[in-house]
Amino acid sequence: MPAAKFEIKRKCQVCGQEFIAKTIESWYCSKRCSNIAYKRRKDEEKRNQRLDEIVKSIPKHQDYIKVSEAYAMFGISKDTLYRLIHKGTISHINLGTNQIRVSKEELLKLYPLRKKALTKPKPVAKLYSLEPKDCYTIGEISKKFHLEDSTVYLHIRKYSIPTRQIGNFVYVPKKEIDNLYKGMKQ
Ligand SMILES: [Zn+2]
Repeated sequence: MPAAKFEIKRKCQVCGQEFIAKTIESWYCSKRCSNIAYKRRKDEEKRNQRLDEIVKSIPKHQDYIKVSEAYAMFGISKDTLYRLIHKGTISHINLGTNQIRVSKEELLKLYPLRKKALTKPKPVAKLYSLEPKDCYTIGEISKKFHLEDSTVYLHIRKYSIPTRQIGNFVYVPKKEIDNLYKGMKQ
């Protein structure tokens, strides 16, 4: 198979368009979509940070909390909360119009806490091993997938696949290679 015809087709995670991935890390069809995704991640981060601030401000020993505080703590919507109150599932007190307080202790028994905001976006976990037992050599790859060694090198560079040289051999993670050539005729 000529190198030029080898492509990874993906669906853009923002606009849904199919596109040819330039590297195995490309998830968006264009700079524009990648910017939109970045902005969405940032907004989500900021939103979570704001909610974390609210959670921090809730006095530890106070049981009855505001609806907005319950949202910040558990991520449960106003509607859900009012439904729980209406059904009598959780205790509440009413301090006046729009001054409902709900029992934090009771909510803690019913709901897991909302996940904390990530101050730094987590890097995508690289789950490859460069141990020789988990790798192919270039020779093994070209044999298995019927490619020229030079083509294999080209793909490895093009898709930024990690390699490790030991003696005269270059080792490449099996997982990455199998993924890359998945669906390719052998
Ligand atoms: Zn797109």
